[in-house]
Amino acid sequence: MTEIDAALKEAVANFVAKHPRGKAAQERAAKVMPGGNTRTVLFTAPFPIRAEKAEGAHITDVDGHDYLDLLGEYSAGIYGHSHPRIRKAVTEALAAGINMGAATDREVAFAEAVTKRFNIDLVRFTNSGTEANLMALSAARCFTGRKKIMPMEGGYHGGVLYFSHGGSPVNAPFDCVLADFNEVEKTRALIAKHGDELAAVILEPMLGGGGCLPASLEFLTMLREETKTRGIVLIFDEVMSSRLHPGGLSAQFGIEPDLKTLGKYIGGGMSFGAFGGKREIMELFDPTKPDALPHAGTFNNNMLTMTAGHAGITEVFTPEACVALNARGDRLRNSLNDLFMKYQVRMKATGMGSMITLHPVGGEIASPADLEKADKRLKRLLFLDLLDQGIYMAERGFMAVSLMVNDADCARVVAGVEHFIKTRRALLV
Ligand code: PLP
Repeated sequence: MTEIDAALKEAVANFVAKHPRGKAAQERAAKVMPGGNTRTVLFTAPFPIRAEKAEGAHITDVDGHDYLDLLGEYSAGIYGHSHPRIRKAVTEALAAGINMGAATDREVAFAEAVTKRFNIDLVRFTNSGTEANLMALSAARCFTGRKKIMPMEGGYHGGVLYFSHGGSPVNAPFDCVLADFNEVEKTRALIAKHGDELAAVILEPMLGGGGCLPASLEFLTMLREETKTRGIVLIFDEVMSSRLHPGGLSAQFGIEPDLKTLGKYIGGGMSFGAFGGKREIMELFDPTKPDALPHAGTFNNNMLTMTAGHAGITEVFTPEACVALNARGDRLRNSLNDLFMKYQVRMKATGMGSMITLHPVGGEIASPADLEKADKRLKRLLFLDLLDQGIYMAERGFMAVSLMVNDADCARVVAGVEHFIKTRRALLV
C-alpha cells in the first residue's frame, strides 16, 4: 500500500467513525435508490454527509456536525441558505399561487430583468440548465438545417450532455464532433473540415465541472470568427459562468455568442434554466407564427422561480454585489495559490472570481489535458481532511463562494488548506 492509500484509509475510517447516523441513513437510502443516491455528483465514498438543515453559509448534518458551505450548491447557491429577501419572495409566491397554468406578469418582469442583464434579445425559460442546452442545440439545428454539433472535450452541459473523456453512455444522441478546449489552430481546422455540417459550437467560456479553466480570449475570438463565417450557431453555456461578471462572462470577454444558456442561481435557488439570444433564432419559437417550433415545460413559468429569481437578480445579486463577490473569490484563490508557492507543493487553485477548483497538480494548467495527471486519491484526501475541519466543498476540488461567505470564512478556508498541506506535505511535493 502506498503512503497515499494509507492516509486515505485512515481518513475514511475517521469519517465513518464520526458519522454513524449518516451511515445508517445511507443504508436506508440504498434500499430505495441506486447506491442510495438520486444525484450522482452528491455521492462521495464511503457515503456522503447527510444534510439536515442549513442557514446562511452553514450546513448541519444528521450527525450534528457544522460545516462552512463552500460548495455553494455547485454555484446555484449564490444567495446562501435562507436569504431573507429570497424567503420573502418565496412566501409571496406561495400566497399568490404556485402554478397558475396561465401566463403571468411575473414571468414578464423576470424575462425583462434577465434579457437586460445578459444582453439577450428574446428568452425562454426551462426547468434546468440541461433542458436549456438541449433546447438551444435543437434550436440551432432547426435554424441552420444542419445536424452536427461541436462540444469541447471537458465540457459539461447537463447529465445527458457530458463531454469529459469523450462523453457519457447516457448522453443525448447528438452527432458530435468533439474539439479540444483552448486549442486554437487545431479547433479552427476541425471547424473548417466539418463546417458545412455543423449546426452549433457549444462551450462554457470557463469550464466549470471540467476544472474551472477559463477559455483564452484568443480561443473565443477564433470561435466567433469561424462560426460567423460559416453560418454556425455559437452557443455559450453560461449556466455557471454568468455569475462571474454583471453581464456574464461573454460581457467580460467582449464576445457575443448567438445563443446563451443560463441556469443555477438565477432562479433564486428554485429549479431554473433559460436559453435565449439573437431574435432571428429565438423567433422560431413564436407561437403566433405558422410552423412555430414547440417548446414545452409544465413548470417553465412557475411562480416560485419567477418571483425568487426576479428578487434575486434585481435586489440581491445586483451588478455591484456581483463585482464584490468575485473580488472576494479572487482574493481567496490568490491566497490559496500563495500558500502552494510558500510550501512548494504540487497544487493549484484555478478559476475566476467566485468559482475555484483546487487541483493536486503542478505546472501550468490551461486545458483538460493538463489535469490528466491529477491523482484522484489526493482529491479525496483533501475533501475528507477539509470536512474534518468543518469545511464542505466538492470532492473534485470545486468551491463556489456564496454571498453569505465573509472574509473571516475565507481566512478559515486558507487555514484549513494550510493545515492539510502541513499534515500531508510528503504526499504533495
Ligand atoms: N451547464 C453547466 C455549465 C453546468 O455546470 C450545469 C450543471 O452543473 C448544467 C449545464 C446543467 O444544469 P442543471 O443541473 O440545472 O440541469
